[in-house]
Amino acid sequence: MAITNLEELSGIIELRDNERRWKEDGANTLPLLISDDIAALLSKEEIRRQFVPTEEENNDTVGSLDPQKEGEYKQTDRLIHRYRNRAAFFTTDRCFAYCRHCFRRRLAGHLVGPATEDEIRKAAEYIASRSEIREVLLTGGDLFTLSDSHLDMLLSIFKENCPDVILRLCTRAVAVNPGRFTPALIEIIKKHNHHAPFFLMTQFNHPAELTEKAINAVSMFIDNGIPTFNQSVLLKGVNDNEKTLIELSDRLLMARIKPYYLFQDDPIKGTAHLRVGIERGLEIEKNIRTALSGLGMPQYTADLPDGGGKVILTYSYYKGSVIENGKERYIFETPEGEIRYYPE
Ligand SMILES: *Cc1c(COP(=O)(O)O)cnc(C)c1O
Ligand code: SF4
Repeated sequence: MAITNLEELSGIIELRDNERRWKEDGANTLPLLISDDIAALLSKEEIRRQFVPTEEENNDTVGSLDPQKEGEYKQTDRLIHRYRNRAAFFTTDRCFAYCRHCFRRRLAGHLVGPATEDEIRKAAEYIASRSEIREVLLTGGDLFTLSDSHLDMLLSIFKENCPDVILRLCTRAVAVNPGRFTPALIEIIKKHNHHAPFFLMTQFNHPAELTEKAINAVSMFIDNGIPTFNQSVLLKGVNDNEKTLIELSDRLLMARIKPYYLFQDDPIKGTAHLRVGIERGLEIEKNIRTALSGLGMPQYTADLPDGGGKVILTYSYYKGSVIENGKERYIFETPEGEIRYYPE
């Protein structure tokens, strides 16, 4: 049975003062929900910090609930069209466990429930009417909290209206509730896996989340020809050190998952205590780049406030240019810190 309140939680771990003092304070609160699979990992501090709420959430007055201004890009109920060639559809607000760093905490867990058939149809028709849209993110909340029949209906409507649009299946469930991925569910996915491909987008933030069950759940997709990419969030006390991120990347690649993004935890109200400064983030990015292959390296990325959109954060190896004998040469710093000149 999943854990839904502090009392149940205190039966599993000894609560600390700052955890006991956490309060649900209405509309701004992300509910407490911890799945069985995550409960089994709570002895690890890096897992506890991601799922056990603390009073620091209540005390954070700095951030905003929607810094990405996603509301302004809404085209139909639940459809956000922020970038020209791709759009995001909120399939539901539910998750199997709520991550304390959630950047959609204005939506997650607020009981609006799964998208209705009408909402799905309107979104699919909008997408079909915009030929520039090449990819749709089926996100939330967690897509796989939908029942098998609801998911079947949703995929049928998208495939019928926009068969040539790539669908990204965005989920944290492979990490937090891998038992959801039954053969029956995979049959539904397979049935709709035609025309444009599916891509599975996971969220693993720490190597301990890659349990055997989680890896098996991901394998059910990959074995059926669905490429898989991981989006992590850089989190203080969870993965804000080189060693952990390198191990995470190694384990992802061994599970055939490509590390795609390492997100800066944006200034969402209630997450300040989990945020890593950008300066330290850039230092980590520089250090792990020298330790990881191109396959293993995620793109460190921030979603800029006021709806500025995503930008890649990377150490700048380009150091300007010089003119010598009338010819321009570009100056670069190598990852080892030496200087090289690149001819024009
Ligand atoms: C992140 C995001 C996307 C996808 O962006 P990629 O860089 O292609 O992964 C699409 N729509 C919205 C609203 C997003 O926030
Ligand atoms: S699974 Fe995603 S949407 Fe759900 S709480 Fe975690 S970060 Fe938020």
